[in-house]
Amino acid sequence: QTIFVPSESDATEGRVAASPETVKRFAGLGFDVIVEKGAGSASRIPDADFASAGATIGKASDISKADIVLKVRRPSPSELKSYRKGAAVFAAMDPYGNEAEIAAMGKAGVSAFAMEFMPRITRAQSMDVLSSQANLAGYRAVIDAAAEYDRALPMMMTAAGTVPAAKVFVMGAGVAGLQAIATARRLGAVVTATDVRAAAGEQVASLGAKFIMTDALKDASGEGGYARELTDAEKKAQAELVADHIAKQDIVITTALIPGRPAPRLVSAEMVKSMRAGSVIVDLAVERGGNVEGAVAGKIVTTANDVKIVGHLNVPGRVASSASLLYAKNLYAFIETMVDKEKKSFAIDREDELVKATLLTHDGAVVHANFADAAA
Ligand code: NAD
Repeated sequence: QTIFVPSESDATEGRVAASPETVKRFAGLGFDVIVEKGAGSASRIPDADFASAGATIGKASDISKADIVLKVRRPSPSELKSYRKGAAVFAAMDPYGNEAEIAAMGKAGVSAFAMEFMPRITRAQSMDVLSSQANLAGYRAVIDAAAEYDRALPMMMTAAGTVPAAKVFVMGAGVAGLQAIATARRLGAVVTATDVRAAAGEQVASLGAKFIMTDALKDASGEGGYARELTDAEKKAQAELVADHIAKQDIVITTALIPGRPAPRLVSAEMVKSMRAGSVIVDLAVERGGNVEGAVAGKIVTTANDVKIVGHLNVPGRVASSASLLYAKNLYAFIETMVDKEKKSFAIDREDELVKATLLTHDGAVVHANFADAAA
C-alpha cells in the first residue's frame, strides 16, 4: 500500500505531516512512501532526508496512487478531486463550522480522520495532536509576547539600578497555558494564571505560578476533562475578578477554548484600556473567535492606550520544524495501530474506539455522530 505526503496547499502552513523518522518506520511496516517534492522545506526537512529514509520524491499528482494521505490541514474540495475513492486521509480537520467541506469529503469517498478528536486517554497519548501542537503554541506565545514587549521580563539588579520582573497573566491553564506558564517562569516573569476547572489550580501551583479563581466559580469542568461554557452569573464573577487583576499585568496570554463552541470572551475592551502603555496581550484563541475584544486574526493591533494585541494565526506553525516532528509522530502512532503486522496491510476497524472517535467520513458518507446534520 502507498502513503502520500503532499505539500500543504495553505500558503501560511509551514508544517508537514511526515518526518524522516516516520517515513523510515512506515517503510519498515511495508508501505511505499511518496513525499511531494519540497513538502518538508518550510520545516527544514530537505527532500534528500526523506529519500534517505526510504521515500520516493514525487509530484502533487501522485496523490492519485495513495491509499493513505498524511496531511496537516483538511484537504480542500479541489484537492479532493485527485484522491482515490476509498483513500484514508489523516489531518487536523477543523470540522466545526466547516460542515459543507466535511460532506464533500464524504462525497469524494475518502475515509477522513479528524486527529483533534483523538480521545484524551492513556492509550492514545502518543497520538494527541492537540497536546503536541498546543504545547508548542503556549511556548511560542510567550516568545512572541516577549519580542513585542519593550521592557525586560526578568528582574535585573544592576549597578545602574533595578529592572522589576514583568507580570505575566495566563488565562486558560490547559496544555498551551501550562507551557506558557513554564516558559514565562523560565524567562523570569512573575506569573499568575486562571482557569475554570478547579483541577488546573494544582497544576498551575506546581509550576510555581499563583492560581487566581473566584469563589463564585467552584468548578466548570465538563465532558472529557474539557471546560463547559459558564453561566451568565459565573461569567460576571469571573469578569470582576479579571478586571481587578489585569490592570496590574504587563503581559497577558489567553488560551481558553470550549470544544465545539466559539472561544469564551475573557478580556473586554474596558480591561484592555485599564492596562498600562507598552503592555502586550497574546490571544491564542483568535482563530476560534478570540478571548480578547479587539484581537484581529493574523494581525498585531495597537490600541489607543498603546497596548499591543497579538493575534497570530497558526502559532504552532511558527515553530514549524519542531511542530512537524511531533505531529508526524502522532500520526504514525495512530496509523500503526491500524496495520496488521503479519499481512503488512492497513485496514479500518470501525469498532475500535479511536476510529469511532476520529472517523468523520467513510464509504461515501459522513459517519461521525457530531456531524449527523452534515450527513443528511
Ligand atoms: P482546551 O484547549 O480545550 O482549553 C484551554 C483551557 O481553557 C482549558 O484548561 C479550559 O479549562 C480553559 N477554559 C475554558 N473556558 C475558560 C474560561 N471561561 N476561563 C478560563 N479558562 C477557560 O484545553 P486542553 O489544553 O486541550 O486541555 C483540556 C483537558 O484535557 C485538560 O483537562 C487537560 O488536562 C486534559 N488533557 C488530558 C490529556 C491526556 O490525558 N492524555 C492530554 C492533554 C490534555
